Amino acid sequence: MPAMANPPTILRVAIPSPLYRCFDYLPPRDGSNPNLQPGMRLRLPFGRSQTVGILLEVVDHSSIDRQRLRPAEAVLDQTPLLPPDLLHFLRWAADYYHHPLGEVIATALPTRLRQGEAAIPGQRSRWHLSDIGAEQDTTALARRAVRQAALLQRLRANDNCLADDELDDSVDRKTLNQLCTKGWARIEQIPDLKHNHNPSDTPPSLNPAQAAAVDTVCAQLDKFTPFLLDGVTGSGKTEVYLQIIAQVLASGRQALVLVPEITLTPQLLMRFEQRFSAPLAVLHSGLSEHERQNAWLYAAAGDAAIVIGTRSAVFTPLAKPGVIIVDEEHDASFKQQSGFRYSARDLALVRAQQLNIPIVLGSATPSFESLLNVKQGRFQRLHLPDRAGSAQAPRVELLDLRRQVMQEQLSEPLLQRMRRHLDAGGQVLLFLNRRGFAPTLICHECGWTAECRRCDAHMTLHQQQRHLRCHHCGSQRPLPQQCPSCGSADLRAIGSGTERIEQTLQQHFPDIGICRIDRDSTRRKGSLEQILSDIHDGRSRILIGTQMLAKGHHFPDVTLVGVLDGDQGLFGIDFRAGERMAQLIVQVGGRAGRAERPGEVVIQTHHPDHPLLQRLCREGYHAFAEDALAERETAALPPYQYLAVLRAEASQREAPLAFLEQAQALAAGIGHAGVELFGPLPAPMERRAGKFRAQLLLQAPRRATLHKLLDIWTPRLSELPTARKVRMSLDVDPIDLL
Ligand code: ADP
Ligand code: ZN
Ligand code: ZN
Repeated sequence: MPAMANPPTILRVAIPSPLYRCFDYLPPRDGSNPNLQPGMRLRLPFGRSQTVGILLEVVDHSSIDRQRLRPAEAVLDQTPLLPPDLLHFLRWAADYYHHPLGEVIATALPTRLRQGEAAIPGQRSRWHLSDIGAEQDTTALARRAVRQAALLQRLRANDNCLADDELDDSVDRKTLNQLCTKGWARIEQIPDLKHNHNPSDTPPSLNPAQAAAVDTVCAQLDKFTPFLLDGVTGSGKTEVYLQIIAQVLASGRQALVLVPEITLTPQLLMRFEQRFSAPLAVLHSGLSEHERQNAWLYAAAGDAAIVIGTRSAVFTPLAKPGVIIVDEEHDASFKQQSGFRYSARDLALVRAQQLNIPIVLGSATPSFESLLNVKQGRFQRLHLPDRAGSAQAPRVELLDLRRQVMQEQLSEPLLQRMRRHLDAGGQVLLFLNRRGFAPTLICHECGWTAECRRCDAHMTLHQQQRHLRCHHCGSQRPLPQQCPSCGSADLRAIGSGTERIEQTLQQHFPDIGICRIDRDSTRRKGSLEQILSDIHDGRSRILIGTQMLAKGHHFPDVTLVGVLDGDQGLFGIDFRAGERMAQLIVQVGGRAGRAERPGEVVIQTHHPDHPLLQRLCREGYHAFAEDALAERETAALPPYQYLAVLRAEASQREAPLAFLEQAQALAAGIGHAGVELFGPLPAPMERRAGKFRAQLLLQAPRRATLHKLLDIWTPRLSELPTARKVRMSLDVDPIDLL
């Protein structure tokens, strides 16, 4: 970038806005900061207010008349907040997902930085014992100054230093300051990051498969190589990540670790903290804005050696990138499902390629995309076929529900099996992917059912809160005492969710601690941690929960896993329903028998002969995936084909379809050889949160053909006559078609 030339100099900037274009400004009037570089933030006049934009480039002409250009108000950074590699990556992402660059950048930036706050991270204090301090006779000192003597001893016992988060009632800052004044201690400012100076954990020696995986990756640390770490549940994938990261850190580089939202429990963080003495930055939705900004800035500065975060952490700047890890790469939470709809897993691959570093995608149930990438030679597969340590793979069995006596989704044989495991001292985990008490409330007199007023959906009964809630739009209302249609008081709850199962279990096992893990029971901050610690301490011995249970937890005493509704997902409308269900069953089943005691998995089903279930249970996930992939190929579906969905919604029923018809005509006008268009059709749930929804599906056997059309088509959609009547969104590589 040449230093700013003489006028006419034009600043081309990205601004968070739904428009597919950049904005031109003049440099600030006061001529400050002649050293303008892409990636710096500018405060800009925008309409009648102000905004913060990112400088993309300095150019010498604009298509807009110079007289009409406004000057920027201020340059907010001395050096680019977005380093060149990150800006390049964000531009790639905006192009690929056909999303306005300004909004993409806004997604990448922590809120405060986006709003223009100074890019200075918060710091913490740490006190070190000085040489003179080390020589003091604390016994003598204790007669005159008890607190100072105690503090000196404390410092000596604590590796001669003390951080501010280690201060407690026995130490106060006043005493610390006294030590500093005397020259017995000195204060140092350090990054505000998780930093364990005395990691307690020593790495186990790896089994041969793990060692081969670590060695293979570490032999190729200097270039882009994508790996699929394909290891059964409990095979020690995390241990493989940890040892790869150790080698990356030893070479002075950083590691970026992406994990699904719910996995970011204390358990996983603790494993990192107890292993590494390197500073750790954590990025997830539960952080305060201050914490998020700190983590981001320290990653950018290279102070954070390890960055662990959920999907948006893929946009973290890294001063010395060394490796990217994506744990549970099949997990749907890596896909952002609103606004800028990106896949963090897919973007992580692109980022690793641009940075020329290795990337490891890990899973016991790899996505079909990744399996195909292995098959076609694009990914190197690292295989961990067995459980680590002494644990054995669990035994899986289908339990035929036909003609069984049932108590709320619990069959008699399952209850008996539970009793046996509990008597033997094991824990039991039950999986039902439906929260609430019951999915339907019905009037037994006239057949009325409780429907959401804003969606084409039933409302779920929540007994504890005594209300009906729609799981699609969140609206709720009190539980009616009488049928609103006929006045009868005979209202009945049909079907069961986790809340109801919990209640039934309490009747069957009155003396046993039962806990429920779903979005309702874990809403309060700290409640998931509490539940997990009850499980680990054995206070809870029956665990009932939704898919939150499937994710990465290590419950050593669980010996029986029951899948209450194995048929959920067998007949889903989405083509990925089978893949998802298989992943869930295997992941939940993988919680069984992870330590010394062997585990069992029981899947309740009304379709014990279903070929998909059979193959999964008898031969495992990969055999199932092989069949299912062959079906996808025959049916011309992803990962063999490439999809994009244009969605539209509006308050009037006709508007979305009318808009999508015009969009289709536009594509026809452009010419879309090699891309098939399906629809427009109403969405499977047409009305949601008061809006009518429709979609147009685009499908192509080649990615390039699809994107060639999208490049021309997408920016012109907003010019269609009906565009103003709808809200539209484009979803490239959608993971569901709902
Ligand atoms: P995964 O991530 O594949 O589910 P984990 O890394 O959580 O598996 O490992 C499962 C359990 O096995 C953990 O308790 C872990 O400490 C233990 N483990 C992993 N590798 C080894 C090893 N090489 N030797 C002994 N135990 C191991
Ligand atoms: Zn009625
Ligand atoms: Zn609703």
